[in-house]
Amino acid sequence: MHRKRCNRMRQPLKESIAQKHGQNRMGLIIRSSAIHAAGCYTTTRITKGKKVAEYTGPRITKDEADTIYEESPVTYLFGLGDGTVVIDGHCMAMFINHSCDPNCETEEENGRVWITAIKNIAPGAEITYDYCLYDGGDEEADCNCGESSCRGTMYSREEVRKRKVETRKARNTLKTQPQSKGVAA
Ligand SMILES: [Zn+2]
Repeated sequence: MHRKRCNRMRQPLKESIAQKHGQNRMGLIIRSSAIHAAGCYTTTRITKGKKVAEYTGPRITKDEADTIYEESPVTYLFGLGDGTVVIDGHCMAMFINHSCDPNCETEEENGRVWITAIKNIAPGAEITYDYCLYDGGDEEADCNCGESSCRGTMYSREEVRKRKVETRKARNTLKTQPQSKGVAA
């Protein structure tokens, strides 16, 4: 499953990681991005099918994450398997921005998450994958990827459908509630 529960930036952490890593062995660098704040770029050519980066960080339960980040508008959580365990991102891969027409995808392999190239990527290009967000509560997650195929949100198509159904249900509930007729005493 390509799923990531993630909302906006945890900026201080991102900056410290960017300073620490600067440029990693795989030729990835962090610099400002037109898509959103900082992004991850490659300095070398990447062939289709190659593992670009691993999404690493402590594994915590979804409940733990909800408690830790209850007040935080910014999280870098990657849902594993059915989503009961999440990776609390602390790695180069957390800088990778979402795109609706990405050059990478995520692959879960024995509990590890890899960002893998789905196209040949030229040096200097920004690395992207489709976040397919879910479980975002009331949060909006507008997309600014600028691709012609942009769906306008970083939520997955499945999540967008689910949200539409929920909104419709909520409206219907309001409509079917008994109206006060203002009966005079
Ligand atoms: Zn988009």
